Formats: sequence, structure tokens, C-alpha cells
Amino acid sequence: MRGYLLSSTLYKGIFLLVIILITLEYLFGSVTESTNYVFNSTKPQKEDIDHQSQIRNKIVNEIRSNNIENSTLSITSTNFHLTNNSRSMARNLSSLAILFDVASSSEPISNSSKFQNRTTLPLCPDDPPNLVGAVPVIKSPVPTIEQLELRFSWLKPGGNYAPDTCNVLKKMALIIPFRCRGAHLLLFLQHMHPFLQRQLLDYTIFIIEQDGDGPFNRALLMNVGYVEALKRRNYDCFIFHDVDLLPENDKNLYTCPIQPRHMSVAVDSLKYKLPYRDIFGGVSAISTEHFRLLNGFSNSFWGWGGEDDDMSNRIRHHKLLISRYPPTIARYTMLTHKKDKPSPNRYDILKLGQQKFDKDGLNSLEYRVLKRREHLLYTWILVKVDVPS
Ligand code: UDP
Ligand code: MN
Repeated sequence: MRGYLLSSTLYKGIFLLVIILITLEYLFGSVTESTNYVFNSTKPQKEDIDHQSQIRNKIVNEIRSNNIENSTLSITSTNFHLTNNSRSMARNLSSLAILFDVASSSEPISNSSKFQNRTTLPLCPDDPPNLVGAVPVIKSPVPTIEQLELRFSWLKPGGNYAPDTCNVLKKMALIIPFRCRGAHLLLFLQHMHPFLQRQLLDYTIFIIEQDGDGPFNRALLMNVGYVEALKRRNYDCFIFHDVDLLPENDKNLYTCPIQPRHMSVAVDSLKYKLPYRDIFGGVSAISTEHFRLLNGFSNSFWGWGGEDDDMSNRIRHHKLLISRYPPTIARYTMLTHKKDKPSPNRYDILKLGQQKFDKDGLNSLEYRVLKRREHLLYTWILVKVDVPS
């Protein structure tokens, strides 16, 4: 009897347990399913990750093609301001990207590889929070390279930086045509690295030095910078920069807007006034695609002057517009130097150039790289160019 009671209780217990298990399985199964559907919190399959990265790339491309810019775009030729309403779109898209990233991340950040880490980061904000506005420009004392290397030890070799708290969409290459301006270069690097770091950019500084003492060809060197930089990495944006111009306001963002941007609008040596409407010299920003479309700069301007006006003509010829920040933002100090003698034939070459945009430029560029070094503060490329006889 006791044995009967015991086995009957046992059977009841087993029965109850089975019922509980079935109920649990039912509940648990549906929860997993809905979690999968809504939050995708289970470990994603490779196909899921591929799909998610496809979606992410689509978003990134969308942002790229919309040329998200956080600035007010000032089109000088029509003299009006377009307030870009893409800011909120960028914010929405970036939060979408964050969702996708979180969903595709199956490991804690610290366990992921460097690449995976970066994709789990949110997009960098379009209004970097650490900007200060007006920044002091230090013209002396000139620092040594060793001092700067110590101070900017956070750089990656080649003069590269990218924030590690957020993802930057567009990679920027800053190209400096250079010869015999050592002190200016040190002051430039001292000023620019913290400046660009605060703007939360992914950038690399390239110094393109012309070998020998023949006439200097600024535009040709900038073409070389474009070609050589793209051999290393898919840069989206190029900023062509005189070594002696130091920006006075960090709200002057070193990005490439929807139209080519003339950046050195108000220079102290020119009394902070734009000398003429179509000027495109000093500092300029052009997207990789536009620079290719324009066939780069002309290679025909030897000595001082003309090459920037030729670029301005190219921009107009291709029905692009020169955009500018307002002069209160796009302010620069020029480091002092002796003024070069203007090249006497620059107007003739400028005139002839109007018919040669598609023949003179990236597609006719000739040079030889003599040396190339990745210093901590910049990538240095020494170039030999043939001066026409
Ligand atoms: N440059 C250089 N060495 C030279 C001449 C020019 O490095 O001997 C480069 C440098 O980046 C400089 C830019 O070309 O800032 C423009 O030249 P410059 O400053 O002489 O032009 P300006 O200020 O008179 O327009
Ligand atoms: Mn100068």
C-alpha cells in the first residue's frame, strides 16, 4: 500500500513536471522568437551580419550621396545662404546605424578585433562638442620636431588620426605643396594636429616636396598628393593647403561639402577681405570625385600664380560652384615670408588653359617619387618633376 501510494505520488509528480516543462517550452520558445524578431539579440549568423553590413553600407552611401554637412553653405556666386537641413537626417541615420551595429555585435567591445570595434561605434557627431571657436595662432617660438612628436604621441605614423570614440564617415587627406619652409611646417603641424583632432576627423597630412631648385609648381605637387594618397587609402575628401596659412577658428570644418569649398576666405595679410570673387588659392577642399571630374589642377603653371585661378575656371566649366564659410569663421593668419616674383606668363597659360582642362591635369601628370617616409607627424613624399625647357 505504501509502495502503491509512493509510486502514485511519483507518477503525479512526473506528470506535473512534464506539464510545467511543456508550458515553459511554450513560453520560452515564443519569447526567443519575438526577441529574435524585434531586437535580434541572439548571436547573429554570418548571413545576418552580411545583410546588416549591407544595410549599413547603404545608409553610409546615402549619407555620402546626400553630402551631409553641418555647415551653412554659402554660395558666393549667387550670394545667398543655403541652410542645410540634412543635419537632422544625419542624426536619424546615425542612430539607425547605431542600432544595426549593436544588433550585429555578438561580442563585448573589448573582445572584438580592432575593425569590429570601429563598426560598433556610433557615428561622430556633426557638431563636434570640443570646438572652441577662435583659437590663438602661435608664430613663435618655432617648436622642434622632437617636441611635437612627444606632444602628439597619440598620432598614428604617417600623420594620421581618427577618433576612437566614434566612427568618421569620410576620410580626409590634407595635401601640402612644399619646399624650403621648414619653420612654417613646424608651426603648421603644431597648430593643425590639435585643431583637426578637435574636429573629430579621420585625416592624414601629406607633405609633397619638390626636389631641386627649379621653378616651383604648387598645382602639380597637389596633383601628386592626390594620386599618391589614393594609392594608400580610399580618401573621400582632399584639402589642399598652403603651409603658411593657419586657421583662426576651429568651427571652420576641414570637411568636403557638396560643392568645392574655398576655405581661406579672410586672411590677415589681405586685411581679412576676399580680394576677388572667384579666388580659389590658399586653402581649398574638394571631394575625391569632384577632383577626378575636374581632372585635378593644371600641371602647366611654373612659378608663382595662376594655378588657383585655373582651378576656379575648371570648377565653373563643370558647372560646379565655389562654396565658402562666412569670413567670420574662415579666418587665417599667414606666416610671414618673402613674396615670390609672380610668373610673367601666368595670364597666357591661364587663357590657353581654358581649352585644355581635359588634357592638362591628372591624366597628363608626370613625376618620380624619390623618397617617401611615414613620420609620426606627416607622410613625406619627395618628388622629382621635369621642368619644361
Ligand atoms: N611653397 C613652398 N616653397 C616655396 C614656394 C611655395 O613650400 O618656395 C608652398 C607653400 O606651401 C606655400 C604655398 O606654396 O604656402 C604658396 O606659396 P607662397 O606662400 O609663396 O604664395 P603666396 O602666399 O605669396 O600666395
Ligand atoms: Mn604664403
